[in-house]
Amino acid sequence: MRNHPPKFFRQLLTFYLFCFGLLCSFSQDKNKTEHVILISCDGLRPDAVEFLGEKWAPNFYRIIKEGAHTHNARTDFNYTVTLPNHTCMLTGRGVLGEAGHAWIENSTPKIGQILHRNKKAYIVSAFDVAHDQGLKTALFSSKGKFVLYDLSYNDRIGRADTQGEDNGKDKIDHYHFNAKTEELIKSFTESLAKTPYGFSMLHLRDPDTAGHANGWDIQPKSVYISAVSKMNWIIGKLFDFIDTNEQMKGKTALIITADHGGRLRTKTHTKSDEKLNYTIPFYVWGPDVSPGNELYKINPSSRKDPGDKNPKYESDGLQPIRNGDAGNLAMSLLGLHAIDGSTINSKQDLNVKAPQKAEGN
Ligand SMILES: [Zn+2]
Repeated sequence: MRNHPPKFFRQLLTFYLFCFGLLCSFSQDKNKTEHVILISCDGLRPDAVEFLGEKWAPNFYRIIKEGAHTHNARTDFNYTVTLPNHTCMLTGRGVLGEAGHAWIENSTPKIGQILHRNKKAYIVSAFDVAHDQGLKTALFSSKGKFVLYDLSYNDRIGRADTQGEDNGKDKIDHYHFNAKTEELIKSFTESLAKTPYGFSMLHLRDPDTAGHANGWDIQPKSVYISAVSKMNWIIGKLFDFIDTNEQMKGKTALIITADHGGRLRTKTHTKSDEKLNYTIPFYVWGPDVSPGNELYKINPSSRKDPGDKNPKYESDGLQPIRNGDAGNLAMSLLGLHAIDGSTINSKQDLNVKAPQKAEGN
């Protein structure tokens, strides 16, 4: 009988050690990312970033060096225009088909036009998932037609929050429009300083505006290249903010992509089977992203570099990385579930960490 107390304490100690180990393994698995900023550079071609190079686009190259990227991502299969592709990013759906979000318009929505009425079903977005989990959300846009999202996810139209605490139907806490991106980035960082949004989207129009006016012209000092250089400047402003903000430093991830590319001669990007229109960049940077990786190289079992093609969604074999991956990647970085109804990256299997080396190797 005298042996019982020590045995009991040994068992208790073993139990505590077990719990401690469990906690340690949980904390290792838990993401550090508390804020995701999804940035869309409208009409950004990856070869424009390569043309500028590290010397003239140091902030893009900081992301390439410290994060994961590909310069061969894809738009939607059927559409290479602005609103349909941004809707892909936000909903994790393609445009057409049964699962598609069905938004094919690309001008400012007319009165009463919203995503759900058009689809005749509620289209869940990354804003819904993040907001319903208690995160603050924002959309800062440089084109007025992005009001589509504010109209589709406001306090009248947004779905009821049935998960845990009721965070309300207005899924976008702050919507802000300003066509001048040098002012927009200032408003955005000032707003972030007050409210470090869990999930926010920043839309930057300049490469598209330059492309439509003078063509997607990859030449020194062309209007288009100057606009891409301005994107680098704006990302630098955002880095300056994140690097010095105690609430966001070390806890913020950036996802940067584009809605489409564009061409020199036609000054357009509507032809969806044109390589220069459907080839876009995709960058990820943050505390849960391992440095210096090309995304196809670290996703050999789930994604395939499409070469010059844009494969159909239903084609055999692996899909390319698309701008539509962004929404569910943002959710997975934040430790949130996939966007309801999404089909692109719905398994949240786009990996942004280098594969762990097997033990003993
Ligand atoms: Zn666009």
